[in-house]
Amino acid sequence: MSLLQELQTELDERAQAGLTRRRRLLQSPQSAHIRADNQHVLSFCSNDYLGLANHPALIAAMQQGAAEAGVGAGASHLITGHHQLHQELEVALAAFVGLPAALLFSTGYMANLAVAAALLGRDDAIFADKLNHASLNDTAVLARTSLHRYPHNDIAVLEKMLASSSAKRKLVLADAVFSMDGDIAPVPEMLALCERYDAYLMLDDAHGFGVLGKQGSGILEHFNVGSNDRVIYMATLGKAVGVAGAFVAGSQVLIDYLLQQARTYIYTTASPPAISAAVLASLQIIKNETDRRSHLNKMIQYLRDELQLTRWHLMPSSTAIQPLMVGHNEEALRLSEYLLTKGILVPAIRPPTVPKGTARLRISLSAAHTLADIKQLIDALKEAERELAV
Ligand SMILES: *Cc1c(COP(=O)(O)O)cnc(C)c1O
Repeated sequence: MSLLQELQTELDERAQAGLTRRRRLLQSPQSAHIRADNQHVLSFCSNDYLGLANHPALIAAMQQGAAEAGVGAGASHLITGHHQLHQELEVALAAFVGLPAALLFSTGYMANLAVAAALLGRDDAIFADKLNHASLNDTAVLARTSLHRYPHNDIAVLEKMLASSSAKRKLVLADAVFSMDGDIAPVPEMLALCERYDAYLMLDDAHGFGVLGKQGSGILEHFNVGSNDRVIYMATLGKAVGVAGAFVAGSQVLIDYLLQQARTYIYTTASPPAISAAVLASLQIIKNETDRRSHLNKMIQYLRDELQLTRWHLMPSSTAIQPLMVGHNEEALRLSEYLLTKGILVPAIRPPTVPKGTARLRISLSAAHTLADIKQLIDALKEAERELAV
């Protein structure tokens, strides 16, 4: 069989198993109410947690940034692409998360690939939560180092692994807020283990930055963890921040070293400076408009208080990610399709993205939602429970 025939066979098998991934066509800006695939829908599936992706102040900042700096960076950071807007943003990000220094990356995926690959080698080891984001697993491949996965948030098993490891350098890797479950890693306990066993802790705060903490600076503020040389902090700028990109923050030595060694930083064109201008504007709103976070938290609390179902239940989560556990793949899919007939978009998440038997609806809430939006979702889910045959 030729390569292309083999690929077609695999695609057909996927389709038969109902696992074909497909894209929806978005025909409006990202928001709580969007137009997708020619239909106006109430959406619970973006990571735009603060409703900033279409904010006029960010649009204006990006326009002004483009007027001043042009559209393309034109070179990698180490050649001539490092614009003063990038520099200003790195300084602002480090100060905001309370760490000595920060380095900008074009995407979160690239930031996650960079760190372990730059710091670790064959004699070292990564200890990773089983439910980590795919990009954190991929970094182990690039680092050519051993990957030890511990059961989700299981500190006791993590401790055993660290205690029995003879690796030279040890790096614990975890999502701060887990993307498909919405729960939070026990960061203070993990940091204590890292201190005890001479390990470093890299936190992926993609879903916490902008939303957690009083100021919105993320997981470290949430747990009141001060600057600590063992912490390697990473967050993305395309979720709550509403723009694009990512950064790694930590000690000055760490950042100096990454600048020399991080391949996904060195061998790529710098992101457009106008993006940094928009992120700088977003940071101002994140810091100053605390109402956005209190409104989001009010929406989360309202959903959890009012959604009483018997067949499906919300998983334990206090964040904007509120998954509704369904179990069977088919049922999750039918529930998602039913909601769409009511004009509500909530994605069904199935294996292999989540463990077998835990298919779910991933409801994500935003400060752009109103109480009426949440009520509409609750009513539709109650109706679905009555009307959908098991
Ligand atoms: C979205 C996400 C990433 C990737 O970030 P991008 O900027 O979209 O590439 C990394 N980690 C987690 C946990 C994420 O949810």
